[in-house]
Amino acid sequence: MKAVIFHGIRDLRLEEVAEPKPGPREAKIRVKYCGICGSDLHEYQHGLFPQSSFGHEACGEIVEVGHEVKGFEAGDRVIAVQKGAYAEYLACPQERMIKKPGKMSWERAAVVEPLSGAAYAIEKGGVQPSDTVLVAGAGPVGLMILLGLKAIGVEKIFMTDISERRRKKAEELGASLVLNPLAEKIPVRIKELSAGRGVDVAVEAVGIEASLKDCLASVRYQGKVIVQGIFTDRVPVHMLGFVTRETTMIGTNSANLPLAMSWIESKGIQPELIITRIIPLEQTSAEGFEVLTKKEKEEIKILVAP
Ligand SMILES: [Zn+2]
Repeated sequence: MKAVIFHGIRDLRLEEVAEPKPGPREAKIRVKYCGICGSDLHEYQHGLFPQSSFGHEACGEIVEVGHEVKGFEAGDRVIAVQKGAYAEYLACPQERMIKKPGKMSWERAAVVEPLSGAAYAIEKGGVQPSDTVLVAGAGPVGLMILLGLKAIGVEKIFMTDISERRRKKAEELGASLVLNPLAEKIPVRIKELSAGRGVDVAVEAVGIEASLKDCLASVRYQGKVIVQGIFTDRVPVHMLGFVTRETTMIGTNSANLPLAMSWIESKGIQPELIITRIIPLEQTSAEGFEVLTKKEKEEIKILVAP
């Protein structure tokens, strides 16, 4: 089968490899889509993480199951959260997949996993419908947070991004106001917009110093900063402000699939709206990863179709 193999920083190669054999508790899946995750992008630019999950946003159809697999059979269509999915076939442990509801489109199924990261973050952060929230970053992570906040009934959601296309998308998806951090000082604007108080919650969805600082400086006294962006660099933080303002900072890096599914089913959330492009496996590197590392950030979510 064809698979995209990680050989090193900025070095992905399309290769012919053996098809995976499912273990006793695994299914072999013919991959329909694998979404390019922000964490994949970081690994592409900086090297694999110790616990790499390169290529994990998969969906597809089961073609074979191991003899101990229960509840799944060949022909089932599933969402699979398992690394190695930039390939025609994937072996996935049964606990890492859920059935795709029959009426759910493949495109939507492909972005349930990123939505589930937002679901986990919002739940862990204890965000309340009455909260005012700043989301720093309108890439896939920030936009999924936006959808999740709408799902739980948050009304005042401010967002920031340097990319015009991403700001437009955030507006389309229902952000109350979208600001450009290159054009204005975000904490100053946020204070103005919140009668000098600051927001209840700020979500860092980029993974850089500037947006973390904006979050810390924009939350109210005893406010919360939820950090979901993936940081590759160490960042200096103004600890005195953190202490005197009694800020709570929460790191988040897990998923809540059932909550994401319930938002889709009962709150009408449409995560597929962040998909801007679908490319064949052959173009994973040039038209997927390379495009997403560009400064302009024209694309938002790219799906690979093996
Ligand atoms: Zn992901």
